[in-house]
Amino acid sequence: MSVSVTPAEHADHLADRAARDHARAADALRVDQPWRSGAACQGQGLVMDPPAEEVKAAQELGVERLLWRSAKELCWSCGVYDRCQAWVLSLPKEADVTGVCGGMTEGERRRVRRKRAAESAAQEENRESA
Ligand code: SF4
Repeated sequence: MSVSVTPAEHADHLADRAARDHARAADALRVDQPWRSGAACQGQGLVMDPPAEEVKAAQELGVERLLWRSAKELCWSCGVYDRCQAWVLSLPKEADVTGVCGGMTEGERRRVRRKRAAESAAQEENRESA
């Protein structure tokens, strides 16, 4: 038996999923972080965390940066940007949110965490050898 899904139903499904995924992160933010009430990304799940199919299509077309740009522009205009960025970078990589958060993509946050860990290890080594 085959199940037919109309393009509109498929679009609704993708929208629901992206909104849910980002809402989950937003819920966690709201619980722990009262400043989240000033977030510019509320209700912008599809912009901050587009469906994987959309990201893949943008990668294939070589326009992934444009896809993330609209999300980053929201962050750059956000009144709680600094607090959000400090918060998201304080999370261990396993607990990171999906999509753009704190003005950075997941890959950019991974690189910042790696760099900080390397700097911290180098400082520790210097202290031990002093
Ligand atoms: S900095 Fe970006 S992700 Fe963070 S609360 Fe503001 S708009 Fe949302």
